[in-house]
Amino acid sequence: MITVQKLLSWYDRHGRDLPWRKTRNPYHILVSEIMLQQTQVSRVLIFYSSWLKQFPDWKHLAQATNTEIIHAWSGLGYNKRGLMLRDIAREIVKKGTPQTRETWMTLKGIGPYTASALTAFSLHERVMPIDTNIRRVLGRFFFGLLFPDPKKDKQIQKKIKAWLPTHGRFYDVPQALFDLASSVCTKIPNCVSCPLRKECHAAQKFLSGNVRVPKNMIQKAKETHYRNKPYPDRIYRGRMLKCVRLHDPNGVDMKEIGLHIDPSFDRHLDTEWLKNMLERMIKNGLLKKKNNVITLG
Ligand code: SF4
Repeated sequence: MITVQKLLSWYDRHGRDLPWRKTRNPYHILVSEIMLQQTQVSRVLIFYSSWLKQFPDWKHLAQATNTEIIHAWSGLGYNKRGLMLRDIAREIVKKGTPQTRETWMTLKGIGPYTASALTAFSLHERVMPIDTNIRRVLGRFFFGLLFPDPKKDKQIQKKIKAWLPTHGRFYDVPQALFDLASSVCTKIPNCVSCPLRKECHAAQKFLSGNVRVPKNMIQKAKETHYRNKPYPDRIYRGRMLKCVRLHDPNGVDMKEIGLHIDPSFDRHLDTEWLKNMLERMIKNGLLKKKNNVITLG
């Protein structure tokens, strides 16, 4: 319990001042959680308030068209997330805001981590959302694992049940752990500055200075690359959406879009690749095709 108090006083001094930490509104919290998936905090900060201005609640978001969402999400990347958020809002307008972790999880697009985050931050329940960062800190702290993997999550959850206090600011503990993970307990941690150092089962191993990051952790995330293209497909899909967005509402002719996304586009070699990417984006509701003209979904 003492370690929790130490962690919280560290958080009071060093924690980040983020707007979604000042609210218990589940809509605001979900917007931040979905935006934070695969996007850095500094970037999310730019979009979070303008999104809430344009779509202040579930009802306004539920009424938004695909085109409005694509414009508002533009620049955040992984555009499917914006449409998914709107679809969740539509469900909530129909059925009401979930009041338990289990009900949150019945909504398409909400997994165990997001459901736990919503329950912890909006309902202030004793639940710990375990993501890579929290897993890293607690796997080290409880078990002395240097680079813990998700297989350990069940055991971490068991330990948390006894470790989290039943009163006071237990709901701030996950946020404190996020900040500790991003500034102190990083891949190669700075244990000397850590408030959990004395009780942490991994501190001595790191302080010995002999720990190396395993090679498989340095590898970049696997992404699909086509032929000799210098970038992963994700980049070309982003360019395609940007190009169509800039030509909204007229759209872009199918014959021209290849050269818009890649100056070395080869009609013989690359058309199938382009069509496959396009089909995927049409399926996700981001784009539409009519008479060989591509428009926003
Ligand atoms: S003491 Fe080191 S390894 Fe343990 S939680 Fe703190 S920074 Fe991480």
